[in-house]
Amino acid sequence: MRRAGRLLIALAALLPSIALAADIEKECGSPSRRQLQAVVEFLADDLLEGRAPGTPGGRLAENYIRSLFKLIGLEPGSQNGFLQPFAIRGFTTRELMLSDGRETLRQPADLVGSYTREESPFDLEAEAVFVGFGIRTPILAWDDFKQADLRGKLLIVRANEPGLFRPELAKGKGMSFFGRWSYKVEEAIRCGAAGLLIIHTDQTAGYGWSVVQNSWSGEEIYLPADIENPLRFRGWISETGLRRLLANRHIDLEGLYRRSLQKRFRPVELGFRMHLSGKNAGRALQANNVVGMIPGRSDRQIVISAHLDHLGRNRELPGDQIFNGAIDNAAPLAALIGLARQLHECRSDPYYSFVFLACNAEEAGLLGSKYFVLNADRRRIIANVNFESTPVWGPSRDIFGIGAHYSTFEELLKQIAAAEGWEYGDFSIAAAQGFFYRSDQFPFARCNIPAIWISAGEHLISGRNELAPFFRGGNYHTVRDEYNPDWEMAGVLQTIRLTRLLVERIDQNRQPPRWTGPLPFPLYGD
Ligand SMILES: [Zn+2]
Repeated sequence: MRRAGRLLIALAALLPSIALAADIEKECGSPSRRQLQAVVEFLADDLLEGRAPGTPGGRLAENYIRSLFKLIGLEPGSQNGFLQPFAIRGFTTRELMLSDGRETLRQPADLVGSYTREESPFDLEAEAVFVGFGIRTPILAWDDFKQADLRGKLLIVRANEPGLFRPELAKGKGMSFFGRWSYKVEEAIRCGAAGLLIIHTDQTAGYGWSVVQNSWSGEEIYLPADIENPLRFRGWISETGLRRLLANRHIDLEGLYRRSLQKRFRPVELGFRMHLSGKNAGRALQANNVVGMIPGRSDRQIVISAHLDHLGRNRELPGDQIFNGAIDNAAPLAALIGLARQLHECRSDPYYSFVFLACNAEEAGLLGSKYFVLNADRRRIIANVNFESTPVWGPSRDIFGIGAHYSTFEELLKQIAAAEGWEYGDFSIAAAQGFFYRSDQFPFARCNIPAIWISAGEHLISGRNELAPFFRGGNYHTVRDEYNPDWEMAGVLQTIRLTRLLVERIDQNRQPPRWTGPLPFPLYGD
C-alpha cells in the first residue's frame, strides 16, 4: 500500500474514537474514565481477596455496591432492602476413591468430583450403568434413557453430544446446551440416580484433565434446592482410568462408544457395583445479591445485571494466590453503576422499571441470578441485559449481543449499531465456548425471559483484538486478571451507551422483547 493511503486509513481509524469520546463527554450523566476506574480499582484490590461468596471479601464487595446504589439514589430492589440474602452450601471432597473390588481409581489422577452430603467418611455403593451421552430432549430428537429405571444407580456418561461425531445430528455452531456437564447433572437428578461420572477426554470435554482437576479441587458451592435430591455425587473420571477398570472385566469401551452414537441406544448395565468413598467437609454459608431500582410508571421491569463475585483465593498456590477478577467482573460492575447513575439522573419518568442486579455466586454456577429469577414475580420481568467481562481497552468498531439472535433483541441492536456507526456481529469465540450458557443471562432465558450478554465488540478501532485472547489462554480465570491503571475504559463507556440506547428504545416503544424462534435449550421445569 502507498504511504498516503496508509495515512488516510490511520486517520479514518482515529475519527470514530474522537467522535465517540466527544459525544460521551457532552452527554448527561456519562461517567468519566476516572469514575469507572475507581470502581474497578477498588473491587479488584487484593483486600477483597477475590470476592468469593460468603467470605469477608465477598461481603465487602456486596456492601460497596449497596453503598454506590444508595449514593446514586436508587430505590431498594429487594423485599429486604438492597441486599437479597440467599443460603448456599459448600462441600470440599477429599481422598476420593472409586473401586470395583479389583481396581481402585483415585483423586486427582483419574477421578474428581463433589459429594453433596455432610457425611465423612462417606461410601456410596451402586450399580454402574453406561448412559451414552446422558441426553434426553425433543430439541435434538435424542433419548439415551429410553425410560430405564436408573434410580439409585451410578451413571457413567460421555462428555459432549453425538453431533460432535455425527455432524448431521448437530444443531448450530459449537457445543449445544445438551453437551455441557451441568445439563448432564440435571438429567441425572431427574432420573433419580445416586451418582454421575462424566468420562473425560480432551476432545469431548474441550479442555485437558488438568482443567477438570483445577476446577474441582476446592470447595463446590450449591443452592440447597439443587442438592435436595437423590444425586449424592457428581464428578469426572479420566478415560484412561475407566478403560483400565473396564478392561479387567473384558468390557470394550470402544463398543460402548459406538452404540452411544446410535439413536436406538439404551442404557447398558455394566454388571458390577462400584464403591465411591472419601472424606467430605460441608458448611452452610450466606451470600447476597445486591438489587437497586429506578421505579417506572409500570411495575414491569427490565433487569440489568452483572455478577459481583469471583474465584476468591487459593491458599495452596505459591506466590500470588488472589483471583482479583478485574475484567471478570469488576469492569462490568463499573458499567452497571455508570449506567444506573446515568439513567437515574438523566432519564425522567420511564415507563418500565429498571432493576440493577449485582448477582452473587456466578462462578459457582450462576447461583445468584438463578435464585433471583426463580424467586421473582417473573411475569413482571420483560427482559434481562447482562454484562460479563466487559472490554476495558480502547473503543471498538463493533458491538455484540450473545443470545440476541434468539429474540427481537437482535433487530434492536442492529438498529442502534447502524445509527451509531458501529458494526453488529458475533463475538468470534462465543458459540464454540458456549458463552450464552455460561453467564447470568442464562437463568433468565430458562425462565422464558428474553435475555442477552451485551458488550462493546472485540474489534478495536486501533486494529487490535484484546477480548478474544483474554478468554483464550489469557488472564481469564487466573490470578493475573488484575486492575491496570493504563486501561482506557472506552469499551465500558461504549457498553454503557449501547445499553442505555437499548433500554430507552424498549421503554419508548413499550414493546417487550420476544423470542423469534424455537429455543435450543429447555426452560426450567420442562
Ligand atoms: Zn464472569
